Amino acid sequence: MKPTQQKKFDKASFQENVKKHLTATYATTVENADSRAWYLAMGRALAELTTFDLLETENDKAIQNAKSVNYLSLEFLIGRLTGNNLISMGLYAHITDAMNELGQSLSDLLEEERDPSLGNGGLGRLAACFMDSCAAQEFPTIGYGLHYEYGLFKQSFEQGHQKEAPDAWRGVEGYPWEVARPEYAQQIGFYGHVESEFVNGVEKRRWVPGMEVQGMPWDLPIVGYESDTVYPLRLWECRAIAPFSLESFNNGDYFEAQHALIDSGNITKVLYPNDNHEKGKTLRLMQQYFHSAASIADILRRHDAAGHKITDLPKYETIQLNDTHPTISIPELMRILMDERGLSWDDAWAICTKTFAYTNHTLLPEALETWSESLIQRLLPRHMEIIYQINHLFLKDVRAKWPGDVDKQRKLSIIQEGFHRMVRMANLCVVGSYAVNGVAALHSELVKRDLFPEFNELYPNKLQNVTNGVTPRRWLKFCNPGLSDLISEKIGTEWPADLDQLTQIAKFADDKAFQKKYMAVKKENKQRLADWVQENMGIELDTNAIFDVQIKRLHEYKRQHLNLLHILSLYHRLLNDPTFDMAPRVVFFAAKAAPGYHLAKEIIYATNKVAEKINNDKRVNHKLKVVFIPDYRVSMAEIIIPAADVSEQISTAGKEASGTGNMKMALNGALTIGTMDGANVEIREEVGDDNIYIFGLDVDGVEELRASGYNPFDYYNADHLLKASMDLLLSDEFTPGEPGKLRATFDSLLDGGDPYLCLADFASYVKAHEDMDAQYRDQEGWAHKAILNTALVGKFSSDRSIRDYVNNIWKLEAVKR
Ligand SMILES: *Cc1c(COP(=O)(O)O)cnc(C)c1O
Repeated sequence: MKPTQQKKFDKASFQENVKKHLTATYATTVENADSRAWYLAMGRALAELTTFDLLETENDKAIQNAKSVNYLSLEFLIGRLTGNNLISMGLYAHITDAMNELGQSLSDLLEEERDPSLGNGGLGRLAACFMDSCAAQEFPTIGYGLHYEYGLFKQSFEQGHQKEAPDAWRGVEGYPWEVARPEYAQQIGFYGHVESEFVNGVEKRRWVPGMEVQGMPWDLPIVGYESDTVYPLRLWECRAIAPFSLESFNNGDYFEAQHALIDSGNITKVLYPNDNHEKGKTLRLMQQYFHSAASIADILRRHDAAGHKITDLPKYETIQLNDTHPTISIPELMRILMDERGLSWDDAWAICTKTFAYTNHTLLPEALETWSESLIQRLLPRHMEIIYQINHLFLKDVRAKWPGDVDKQRKLSIIQEGFHRMVRMANLCVVGSYAVNGVAALHSELVKRDLFPEFNELYPNKLQNVTNGVTPRRWLKFCNPGLSDLISEKIGTEWPADLDQLTQIAKFADDKAFQKKYMAVKKENKQRLADWVQENMGIELDTNAIFDVQIKRLHEYKRQHLNLLHILSLYHRLLNDPTFDMAPRVVFFAAKAAPGYHLAKEIIYATNKVAEKINNDKRVNHKLKVVFIPDYRVSMAEIIIPAADVSEQISTAGKEASGTGNMKMALNGALTIGTMDGANVEIREEVGDDNIYIFGLDVDGVEELRASGYNPFDYYNADHLLKASMDLLLSDEFTPGEPGKLRATFDSLLDGGDPYLCLADFASYVKAHEDMDAQYRDQEGWAHKAILNTALVGKFSSDRSIRDYVNNIWKLEAVKR
């Protein structure tokens, strides 16, 4: 670590450079430039500094001769880069000063940046935290993703309904931090046929694509915290090349060729907006192959350029697959090694199975990818041949292990039999990888026990755990400067690079003066959020109220509707139970629903209508408010999380693989109310049972209830508070004159069978909230718990996650520059 950007920094020449960009790049002047132009010019000037270090890192012989990780992900939800990069470069104060002298406020300029929302939620955000942690610890890394023209849609509400709009994140001017790398462009084929030739009596297969496109890489700089190391996040943009369609062009079919041009231009047009749900669309598979093929080609280009032998690939490169989305990389590497590099099957397979590792992110059946065999056959005929051969040899091993057990073969086969034969991407990943990991201890156990028990027998020790983490630079130092300064006053300034040091503040948990300061910071952060809500939504909030926060994708398994039932129960009791009292509370939601997920959109609508009524009802609105913040994204999370008192992590046990929102909020001093699911289990282990509110069925409880035949009507009929709360959804209480408009949510919980057991957990959830409410009235006791949350969650730094990958899976070493 050597913050030499600071030492190298020359204010006057930086300011000149900003002014140069104002004019030369953005065609304006110091006199006429608006904030946006100043932000862009400043961004370009900063990006020049990081591009210099990016090239130095790329050309560093020590790195070329070390082992690197290639992180392949269809999603990187990086959030705004400028503020974070300034922190990593150690230049935040310097640039504040430099821009001040130019008459500009840095914090205003930072607000001009649109988030690059190149991901849906947790999975994409994890990839971004991992890039940050690899760079911070100087483990040689390249991130490979897609350069979507449109990121995740922008969300707004119209009369309570979600509306989607395209997210042109680069703006018309382009994104100042990205640099095109045309010298590394790749050609990618699709469709076509496979030819055979015999060389010395040995058959050689060769794919002749029917259409080719170009992959143009754009690099975003991932700046190592307080170091000169800058690794690339390399995002591939699809461009058409002429002749666009080789076959149809040769046939003189000009219009067919034009069609191909439109198609290929579309491959990276837009991010698919589904979280934890696969839809099987052709264009999505084209995105996946485009991403895999371009990335594999680039990895081999680097390997060759460094002068390494192809058989040494696993010695220099490891390829981490973030979920099954880049699975087609496995047959793609096989194809190149055999068809283009002339290796035998066995040699190629030996390389592949020492190079790939796979991260499983979910057990939800609707999220496990399968692709139609006929689609793969048409789009990637050679890859389908290779998949058949992988499966053929794999099933031999299965037969050897379980002779005569046809059920085992059927269950494990990479090809799922049936009328439409499907390729199971997770099975292909497990067979083709040297390591498979789940993302939290509980999840990894369930992967072994329920998802892949036979694979666990067949390949002992292949299935592992790496608990997720979040980067403390963005999720504490940058987003919560008040708390960061308070921590640094007590324990020094090294904690952002070594989060376990936070345990040293545990000894101040009972220190009255520290408690006061800690709670004052929380209050300031709540005020910042309240101001945002006042300004943008016109709702007035009391910062003495409990700020109760559920922010994450809208999904039934995450149970935003259980939270809604709790709100309805508070509303009902405030109006009907004169003995009922509660601490004032604001419940915050922020969540996007996949555009095709009907019930999720109905839950948003119901929540918005309930919010509208409650917030304007004088009988209750001094006690209760509900705020659904639109367009949830990283920059919004950065405002909400530091202000949270309570973190809602209420998924049905066994459904949330890890969660990372839970970690961000605990780190910022929110108390979790949560189920025994995902990383909540480990958070509880770290902070202790007294400093978290656990409720509801655990995984075994869920299983027993399902086995005994779950009937939600039993709960509805037996629990008066539950019934009264739910019945509000049938009335016209929130949609005056129009009863029944919120019944989709109601119906899903009764006639729909309540698949995520909201009703079963309701009573226990209400009780946990009552305990939490009582504790909030004792502010010193609350401060004690909140401080301990911050102090005891150092484990959930993504630096630790990356060290786990490095030590247990990747086996590579840092290269300090
Ligand atoms: C952290 C984060 C997530 C993941 O939240 P979970 O609660 O773990 O689902 C999703 N979106 C954004 C913008 C985030 O910052």
